[in-house]
Amino acid sequence: MSRSRPYNFSAGPAAIPEEVLQEAAAEMLDWHGCGMSVMEMSHRGPQFESIIAQAEADLRELLRISDDYAVLFMQGGAIAENAIVPLNLSGGAKADYVVTGSWSQKSQLEARKYCDVHISASAHDEQGYGSIPDNAAWSIRPDAQYLHVCTNETIDGVEFHFVPDSHGVPLVADMSSHLLSRQIDVSRYACIYGGAQKNIGPAGLTLVIIRRDMLGHALPHCPSAFDYAVVAANHSMFNTPPTYAIYIAGLVLQWIKRQRFEGLSGLAAVEARNIAKAHLLYDALDASQLYETRVGRECRSRMNVPFHLRESALNAAFLQGAESAGLLQLKGHKSVGGMRASIYNAMPLEGVQALVDYLKDFEKHHG
Ligand SMILES: *Cc1c(COP(=O)(O)O)cnc(C)c1O
Repeated sequence: MSRSRPYNFSAGPAAIPEEVLQEAAAEMLDWHGCGMSVMEMSHRGPQFESIIAQAEADLRELLRISDDYAVLFMQGGAIAENAIVPLNLSGGAKADYVVTGSWSQKSQLEARKYCDVHISASAHDEQGYGSIPDNAAWSIRPDAQYLHVCTNETIDGVEFHFVPDSHGVPLVADMSSHLLSRQIDVSRYACIYGGAQKNIGPAGLTLVIIRRDMLGHALPHCPSAFDYAVVAANHSMFNTPPTYAIYIAGLVLQWIKRQRFEGLSGLAAVEARNIAKAHLLYDALDASQLYETRVGRECRSRMNVPFHLRESALNAAFLQGAESAGLLQLKGHKSVGGMRASIYNAMPLEGVQALVDYLKDFEKHHG
């Protein structure tokens, strides 16, 4: 396939598979002969009913989500979930948090408005974040209503490659930036949530996968639109859901199902390709004298790869050269500095290869 656009390394809103954008463009004015754009149809009409039902069925198939779990299509992103989770799950009592990066730090701060928060473990040190404290040493209160983790820290590039042992306390995970990038065992979690704009679709849609026994415990002042039980009982139609974002996410889910890589298919193929992409990039960074990564090897993210030039005076030239080479949005988050390459599902292996070629070329000229 020839390359019609630059490679986009944005952390989010992030690249969407080009095939999906083309499908959406082709259906923009008239979805399946009904004479309307998806944007223009009632969320309660038969057309949209079929779109959301298919999206839910595909999500359940890809992640093997059992009927013990409700799938909710919500709004407000993961930042709203930082409040929605304690409003629904804390009972105004105790909730424990593990802090492994900027996003879980934000989560625990917000939760303090609603419940008694305890930090079970924190990975923060003088260098910032770049590790996951030994799970065996986490101090988890046995009477905590849940234990919250962020399984991929988008800003800091720290990913859990294991399911934490929460000692029987319900496990809640912000998976915004790696949901659907790898196979997961949903049954190990009480609640999984994530904004769509990293790996799944456009901004505006939040996915929540929640075990049904966790429903129905919201605090009395929890807004109805944010009460998981209300949203579940109304099949995500208590208020108007983000219909167009759900439609695009549905196309992305179908795209994931079609993927093939090294004899694998669907999510297994996507995961294998993501592993190959991450190896390619980290190997190049490790081999260089100019670039460095600060995250421990055992928790390096496959999705978000922050790296620094040893001479920060070269940052501007690096970014300018990258843009000329068709490699967009490599600037790191302002709190971490340096560079960050986000290589979500929609980034092809060739895009990572193009970045690696550029890294080597730039080092040859400036190293
Ligand atoms: C992007 C992101 C968020 C914030 O998402 P919003 O849509 O801005 O609310 C929270 N957590 C993680 C892990 C993220 O990647």
